[in-house]
Amino acid sequence: MPQLSSDHFAFGSALLSVDEAVARAATNLAPVAETEDLALLEADGRVLAHDLVAALDLPPFFNSAVDGYAVRFADLNAKGDTVLPVAGRVAAGAALARSMPAGYALRIFTGAPMPEGVDTVFMQEDVRLDGDQVILPVGLMRGANCRPAGEDLARGALALAAGRRITPEAVALAAALGVTRLAVRRRVKVAVFSTGNEIVSPGSPRGPAQLYDSNRIMLQLMLRRIGAEVTDLGILRDDRAVVAAALAEAARGHDLILTSGGVSTGEEDHVKAALADAGSLAFWRLAIKPGRPVAMGVVGGTAFIGLPGNPVAVFVTFAHIVRPFLAALGGGVPEAPLALPVRSTFAYAKKQGRREYVRVALARGADGVVDATKHPRDGAGVITSLTETDGLVELPEAVTEVKPGDLVGFLPYALLR
Ligand code: AMP
Ligand code: MG
Repeated sequence: MPQLSSDHFAFGSALLSVDEAVARAATNLAPVAETEDLALLEADGRVLAHDLVAALDLPPFFNSAVDGYAVRFADLNAKGDTVLPVAGRVAAGAALARSMPAGYALRIFTGAPMPEGVDTVFMQEDVRLDGDQVILPVGLMRGANCRPAGEDLARGALALAAGRRITPEAVALAAALGVTRLAVRRRVKVAVFSTGNEIVSPGSPRGPAQLYDSNRIMLQLMLRRIGAEVTDLGILRDDRAVVAAALAEAARGHDLILTSGGVSTGEEDHVKAALADAGSLAFWRLAIKPGRPVAMGVVGGTAFIGLPGNPVAVFVTFAHIVRPFLAALGGGVPEAPLALPVRSTFAYAKKQGRREYVRVALARGADGVVDATKHPRDGAGVITSLTETDGLVELPEAVTEVKPGDLVGFLPYALLR
C-alpha cells in the first residue's frame, strides 16, 4: 500500500479551488508501485508501467500506399507524358523485391514492398495502358504514394509513454510493433461506503422516510470504468464511532476510501469528525458547484475522499476531484479533459471565484452551431438532470455571467466517467 503521511493533506480548511485541491492532493502521493504483465487483450484501460520503445521501424519496410505503377522518378519527363514498359508485378506479401533497372515501370499493389531503385508510385486510376507499356502523366512529385520504412515511427523512438492509459489505439500500436504483453500498474484498490440513516439499498425494505442508495452503485461503476478494483462496504449509520471504526477497518487493504454523504456542517454529518478520530482531516470546502463540501484526508496511510451526499454533486466531484486523484494514485498521468466550445441558449449568473458545472443537453441550431440548453431542474439531488442531459458546461472561476449566444466550454459525460 502507498503510505500517505497526514501532513500531505495538511492545508487547512479554506475554500480551495478545484485545481489547487487536486494538485495538493496529488503531490507527495506515493502511486501504486506493483506491476503486472498482461496480454494485450487484457491491458485495455490499465496504466502503462514503462515506456514502450519501438523495436522496429513502422512500417517495417518501404512499400506502396496504392494500387498502381512504381517508377524511378529520374525516368520521368519533366514536361509531358512518360511512356515506360511494364517490367513485372509485386503484390502485398511478396518477398522483398530485387532492385529495378532504370527505364521500366513495375505493376505494384498496396502494401507491396518497393524494390530498390523505384521511389514513386502512380495510382492506377491516373495512368493509361498501351499494350505492355504504361503512359504516365506529368506532375507527380518524387516519393508520391509510397510509405518509407519508419515514416510512422522510427526504430528506437518512444511509442507509448509510461503512465498513459492503455486504449484500443495504443494496443494497436503495440501490436504493430510485434509486442504481445505489456507491463501495467496494478489496479488501485478502492473501498466505497454510503452514509446516512435515511439510505437503504435497493432490495431492502424501505421505511417511509428513507430513500434508496444511488450513490454507491454509481461510484462503483465509475470506479470500475477507470480501472479500479472496488470493494463495496455498504451503508454506514450517522454515528461518529461507527464511521470511525469502519474507516480504520477499510484502511487496511485499500489505497483509497471513498464515501458519500455526511461531510457537510449539519449535526448529523459525522464523517469529518470520524476521519479526524481514525486518521486526519485535511480540507473540506472546495470552490465547486455542485459539490462544495468535499473532505480529504488520510487514515492509516490510506487516502480518504468524502464526497457530498447529493447524487449530482457526487457525479461532479467524482469527475473533477476523484478521477484526477485516482489517475495519480494509479501511477498515471492525470488528463484534464478539454471543454469544447458550444453556444449557450441560457442566461446564468454565478459567483466569481467558484467553478460551476451546468447540466446541458445539446442540439444543433439552424445555423449548424451546437446549442447547449440547461436542464430545467438544477437541484443537486435531481438524478434525472443527469440522465436527461449530455454533459456539463464548465464555467471557470473568473466567469460571473453567461448570456444566451455566448460560447461556453462543454464536457461530454463520456469524458468524465
Ligand atoms: P448529506 O450530505 O449526508 O446531508 O446528504 C445530502 C443529501 O444527499 C441528502 O438529501 C441525502 O439524503 C442524499 N444522499 C446521501 N447519500 C445518498 C445516497 N447514497 N444515495 C442517494 N442520496 C443520498
Ligand atoms: Mg447524510
